[in-house]
Amino acid sequence: MMLYVSTRNAEEKVTASQAVLKGLAEHGGLFVPEEIPHLDVSVEKLADMSYQETAYEVMKLFLTDYTEEELKKCIRNAYDEKFDTSEIAPLVKAQGISYLELFHGATIAFKDMALSILPHLLITAARKNHVTNDIVILTATSGDTGKAALAGFAGVEGTKIIVFYPKDGVSPIQQKQMVTQKGDNTFVVGINGNFDQAQTGVKQMFSDQELAKELAAAGYQFSSANSINIGRLVPQIVYYVYAYAKMVKSGEVKNGEKMNVAVPTGNFGNILAAFYAKNMGLPIGKLICASNENKVLYDFFTTGTYDKNREFILTSSPSMDILISSNLERLIYRIAGDSAGKNQELMLSLQEKGEYTITDEMRAQLTDFYGNFASESETAAAIREIYESAGYIIDTHTAVAAAVCRKYQEETGDGTKTIIASTASPYKFTRSVMTAIDEKYDSKSDFELVDELEMLSKVKVPKAIEDIRTAAVLHKTVCEVGEMQHVVKQFLGV
Ligand SMILES: *Cc1c(COP(=O)(O)O)cnc(C)c1O
Repeated sequence: MMLYVSTRNAEEKVTASQAVLKGLAEHGGLFVPEEIPHLDVSVEKLADMSYQETAYEVMKLFLTDYTEEELKKCIRNAYDEKFDTSEIAPLVKAQGISYLELFHGATIAFKDMALSILPHLLITAARKNHVTNDIVILTATSGDTGKAALAGFAGVEGTKIIVFYPKDGVSPIQQKQMVTQKGDNTFVVGINGNFDQAQTGVKQMFSDQELAKELAAAGYQFSSANSINIGRLVPQIVYYVYAYAKMVKSGEVKNGEKMNVAVPTGNFGNILAAFYAKNMGLPIGKLICASNENKVLYDFFTTGTYDKNREFILTSSPSMDILISSNLERLIYRIAGDSAGKNQELMLSLQEKGEYTITDEMRAQLTDFYGNFASESETAAAIREIYESAGYIIDTHTAVAAAVCRKYQEETGDGTKTIIASTASPYKFTRSVMTAIDEKYDSKSDFELVDELEMLSKVKVPKAIEDIRTAAVLHKTVCEVGEMQHVVKQFLGV
């Protein structure tokens, strides 16, 4: 059986379902698999599999205490008609690059790939572990996680979900999507602060033992839907395996030939999933880590120092406006030789000084990665240029990756076939996308822009956007960073 160990305490080991249930390990650690399993099915076989079948082949290797029946049921319930294409994650080629479109789920961002299955994994885990408390999902969001988690958990019996978002740090459409969420078990709160403050506040509540006791007395326990939950990480590995198999099937790459992957990165979850896929034996070459102007990761890859002490910049790719990339800890743990002690030391330094520096020995293990960033104008130029030459419209996050990918190819001359993780529909960031194409669009209203985008892209307006045109605002709570815990207690009535 595959066990999961905390990145901060070698003694803390749990089963997969327990790791899904707990979200975060004690003392702020993250759960990592004791070792990364190898794919045990050939690419030829994978090439003929559906997304759901591929998901089973990958997830069964990580979630070993789920039965075949349980896992297949979770997969069936997750990847169904909520997605607007039976391919679930189609590849679209433009200018010689394959865009892996991860935004065909209910909230039109890649978070749906994991958050449509997490509630099912979680409820199954609760049953397996004889949990009788209601599960309270506590989440901080930079915009996309929140809505995807709300959509995933709304109406799911035995759960409540509370989402904190930075009030002035998400796009108008992201905000509207969240505050119009239906379901008695949902609660959405804007905070007067940024994403990192929201995330820190949530992490504090998770590790607050007093609070846990009060909740337990009232029949509740916390769990996390944030990308630190392995129940989110594992489903994200699936689409890299799926994409490679489809690239082989279509003749884009020969079986065994390497493929590079470029990922617009914030919390480091998506690219970490690609790294895990590579370690499972998938022929991935470079992992191209693309940042926006909040380029902490670029600086980390180029200097070996992670330093969050800097100005927080609001960009047109808000889901990547992050100074603490939580999932990087899993990579740090690994390059520290799976040492909880060493990792703990560095994370303590991050907590106390806002920075840490890895050793040369650790840096030497980062050769799989290439980091760079795109400025706001480079991001806009990428959107415009790809539209003008290929007629394909990408969102701002994907454009950051497209711009960085080009920098990588120009710097290195590496001609390896590349996929870009396309993480959001352009409809989610309509204003930024349309004004990147032509500034004249800035005078129009958000929904006028939606219609203009439909004309330019010839891609039908997604249902997720149609739904919020007229929806009523149901969540109006706004609080200060220091009041988060109070607000949670109020909502739960404890
Ligand atoms: C969350 C998100 C990202 C960043 O993904 P991480 O896994 O946090 O690195 C990029 N683009 C979009 C659209 C997102 O929603």
